[in-house]
Amino acid sequence: MAAKVWDTVIIGGGPAGLSAALVLGRCCRKVLICDAGTPRNWAAHKMHGFLTRDSIAPSEFRAHAHRELGRYDSVEFWEGEVTDVTRKSDGTFRVLLGDDHAAICRKLLIATGVADQLPKLPRIDEFWGKSVHQCPYCDGWEVRNKPIAVYGKRSRGFEMARAMTAWTSDIALCTNGNSGLLAEQIEHLSRNGVEVIEDSIAELAGKNGQLDAVIFTSGRRLPRRALFFDTPCALQSEIARKLGCTFTKKGGVRSGRYEATSVPGVFVAGNIIKDVQLAIVAAAEGTRAAFGINRSLTREDFERRATGVKRVEHPPVDDEDVARRRAQT
Ligand SMILES: Cc1cc2nc3c(=O)[nH]c(=O)nc-3n(C[C@H](O)[C@H](O)[C@H](O)COP(=O)(O)OP(=O)(O)OC[C@H]3O[C@@H](n4cnc5c(N)ncnc54)[C@H](O)[C@@H]3O)c2cc1C
Repeated sequence: MAAKVWDTVIIGGGPAGLSAALVLGRCCRKVLICDAGTPRNWAAHKMHGFLTRDSIAPSEFRAHAHRELGRYDSVEFWEGEVTDVTRKSDGTFRVLLGDDHAAICRKLLIATGVADQLPKLPRIDEFWGKSVHQCPYCDGWEVRNKPIAVYGKRSRGFEMARAMTAWTSDIALCTNGNSGLLAEQIEHLSRNGVEVIEDSIAELAGKNGQLDAVIFTSGRRLPRRALFFDTPCALQSEIARKLGCTFTKKGGVRSGRYEATSVPGVFVAGNIIKDVQLAIVAAAEGTRAAFGINRSLTREDFERRATGVKRVEHPPVDDEDVARRRAQT
């Protein structure tokens, strides 16, 4: 008996992957969605800014999505880590599930997201996701008009401090050593009422996840209700790189029309693209990828039935890609 071939394997069951699964399920596609259970927002108790779901607990959001997907028989879940993917000569993919199971699919959607690197500040773990945040669009409103600390050096610190001026006028940029800022940047921050503090940070203080103050080694205690930082985040999975996908300067997987990557048959969605990193955008990218995947599958099958020709249909990534393909035909 021939092994089951999935129309699509989705790696990652966050907003991006779940949203794609819904659209593909509604397109009557056989979908396997694999998830390792390590979402980016694991530390958050509430998810803000997702229309009709504002302030929902991330766990409830996922449970709700699973309930909705339960209506679609052609969508199945597998809990665990996809450890490897290889693209076969016929354009299909062999997806290794854990150590010893494999699934074959025609299209692959990688929606594995990113993981944050927390600044190395004593006690930061106690406050992460509660009063220490990385995204003002996610958590700025709750601390509007409150005293805020921003953590970061050079342009990252500057950009986050500038961003926070939309939510509060009481901002201290704590750089924990030399700020690396230009004199002009310090001047512009100062004119916006932002104090730049280069003193070394001794610890964050507070209780039950609520930050009360930033304590400096000088002994200074700076009362603050929240701290926002911008440090680099890393891809959760190297599968896209291993498959040969190209990357943007920001370190995200480069995607074009319908979130197609430079590798035929491979699509991406969500934070792995490193564009606007909000849950509702991730979900929308998942929907776009699902649209592109279903469109490609439908065209491939239509052509095969009409002409007998088997071909991998894949949307272009950019104008260069379009020109290259034209030159090849
Ligand atoms: C503390 C915090 C609070 C946030 N609050 C908000 C908010 O209020 N509003 C908002 O819009 N956004 C918020 N965000 C951002 C939001 O979490 C992301 O935009 C969203 O989770 C991105 O969705 P995603 O599907 O791309 O990735 P994720 O939600 O991170 O999901 C990726 C999934 O892929 C799985 N995975 C990874 N590798 C593999 C593998 N090899 N095999 C199988 N599975 C794999 C992971 O286990 C994970 O479940 C917050 C982020 C953080 C860190």
